[in-house]
Amino acid sequence: MLRIRVTPVEVIPSWVALGNQGGQVRTIGNTILFSATDLMRFVGCAHATALDLAYMRGEPLTPREDTEDAALLQKQGDAHEAAHLEKLKDAGNGVVEIARGDLAQNADETRAALAQGSQIIFQGAFLAERWGGWSDFLERVERPSLLGPFSYEVTDTKLKRKAHPKHVLQLVLYSDLLAEIQGVMPEHAHVQLGDGTRATLRLADYAHYARGARAKLEVFVASPEPTRPIPCADCSLCRWADHCDAVLTSQDSLFQVANVTRGQVKKLEASGIETMAALARHDGPVRGVASATAEKLVGQARLQHARKTGEPAFELRPAQPGKGFDLLPRPQAGDLFYDIEGDPHYEGGLEYLHGVWADDSFHAFWAHDHAAEAQALERLLAFFRDRLTAYPEARIYH
Ligand code: SF4
Repeated sequence: MLRIRVTPVEVIPSWVALGNQGGQVRTIGNTILFSATDLMRFVGCAHATALDLAYMRGEPLTPREDTEDAALLQKQGDAHEAAHLEKLKDAGNGVVEIARGDLAQNADETRAALAQGSQIIFQGAFLAERWGGWSDFLERVERPSLLGPFSYEVTDTKLKRKAHPKHVLQLVLYSDLLAEIQGVMPEHAHVQLGDGTRATLRLADYAHYARGARAKLEVFVASPEPTRPIPCADCSLCRWADHCDAVLTSQDSLFQVANVTRGQVKKLEASGIETMAALARHDGPVRGVASATAEKLVGQARLQHARKTGEPAFELRPAQPGKGFDLLPRPQAGDLFYDIEGDPHYEGGLEYLHGVWADDSFHAFWAHDHAAEAQALERLLAFFRDRLTAYPEARIYH
């Protein structure tokens, strides 16, 4: 029987059962139970985990409500999952659906369904020691296991068009938990993607990384290291985004300087420059940062710092022949300035607005569905054609 390696973790007795609130860290009794979501959050930003735990301990923190974007993504994710379920049923597969409720009870129901050998188990649940959660689909494969002449593999539905490295964490976790029951590690796991295709992963290629990440989370919870807000790709959908913004502002953090990198912040801090105001005042080299880069960062900080107390400002960079504005053609009568807006969350994607600035006025080509999108594009191209016929030297700037 395969065992999942679990590092003993000291549990803070005052942590109480919170239920599954927004997929955040939860407890059963006094024991912290980690989910795939917790793991993905931790890998994205350890500070988010630190805040989750602090909130759980009752520290005065207020998480942000789900943004409209997050709610929309969730809704579309659910619809994608439901559509895949229907497809499997239509194809004649026997599907056992676990009605999501109490995790321990659902895990027992899943064990029974696995033993029964159903073709598909929807919302199969797992609970073992510190890890648990609900998978999307468990699919029967004809590979022998303790269950009989068959075993199961995990499939998750994701809206994305490509499997993301974080999906691997989830798939390996559920596959390990599944292996505990069926006695053999599944060979593969799958992601049913938003464009209808399926990505199949060979688990042996990813298991080491994913198990290592789990061990790191357990160690982090047992003996947390100090963390702080460091802006990253996860911030936009994070429930702590308002909190972190407030902290960065109150600290006048260097991370607020546009386009600064983590490495640059580290070097600036090591040189004693710890705030945006200090960077804005800085004159001279910064150890480990090229002088042109340092000058750019100082200039950026100066403009942003000034903006805090005054009107938006700008500074012209010294002209360099062949660069910057030198690359632009001379203005022509009839020049057009064009931009496009799209909604990737609309089913199949929707380019809902073409906007053109011409003759000191804005021309909008709107579309609220796919039929209107095609018409808007036709009208836009006709507009361009007429303009370029009237002004052959004009250009379209995007
Ligand atoms: S908002 Fe960003 S920095 Fe703050 S906890 Fe969330 S992911 Fe981390």
